[in-house]
Amino acid sequence: DIKITSKEYMEYIELVAKKIELNKDYVTELDSITGDGDHWVNMNMGFQRVLKDKESLASMKLSEMFQKVGMLIMSTVGGSSGVLYGSAYIKAAKVLGDETEMDINLLCEVLEAELNGIMERGKAKPGYKTMIDALYPAVTRFKESLEKGLDNHTALQELKQGAIDGMNSTKEMEAVKGRAYYQAQKGVGHIDPGAVTMCYQIEVLVDYLCK
Ligand code: ADP
Ligand code: MG
Ligand code: MG
Repeated sequence: DIKITSKEYMEYIELVAKKIELNKDYVTELDSITGDGDHWVNMNMGFQRVLKDKESLASMKLSEMFQKVGMLIMSTVGGSSGVLYGSAYIKAAKVLGDETEMDINLLCEVLEAELNGIMERGKAKPGYKTMIDALYPAVTRFKESLEKGLDNHTALQELKQGAIDGMNSTKEMEAVKGRAYYQAQKGVGHIDPGAVTMCYQIEVLVDYLCK
């Protein structure tokens, strides 16, 4: 059974920070083509900032931890991704209530709240060639799997595959929002960097939970 405490969530954050750290060149290259080249710097700065408070965050109640993570990211990261991830975490904090651990159904609700937080804040929808195109299909497939009563492992693999397929689907999309909209070709032919880093976070989460 899956039960994620604040301490475990921070272990996961540490793995995400590492994954992002290792993919500097690729993410920077993608945002240089479709945007202004700073997406890796933004994401790396945000996660490194969160990690600095790892000990105190790990000791908080889940909802407090999510609220604090959102505020740290929002106040540290300048770009769109700072505001969007900040909104995601703050929105998710609200569904956590007084829980001290997340089971798989609460994890699904948290991810759905993050998706809604991002969509409300950025006013983008699936198909606009953004980070949403990795998160939306991931959450949809995860939720459907749980509703069908599939086992946890299968549901988590659906979450991960949804993110990967969604990320890849951004390659041929035309940007509707964000900086890629202003590029020649609207980014067509290139994967969206925000979808890549969103996919990393979901992949690392699933691998952490299925380890
Ligand atoms: P900035 O575009 O301000 O430089 P980043 O480079 O950190 O910020 O983030 C760019 C990513 O943010 C894009 O690749 C895209 O995935 C995502 N993005 C941009 N605008 C939106 C939006 N309105 N809604 C959702 N995601 C967005
Ligand atoms: Mg950028
Ligand atoms: Mg920027």
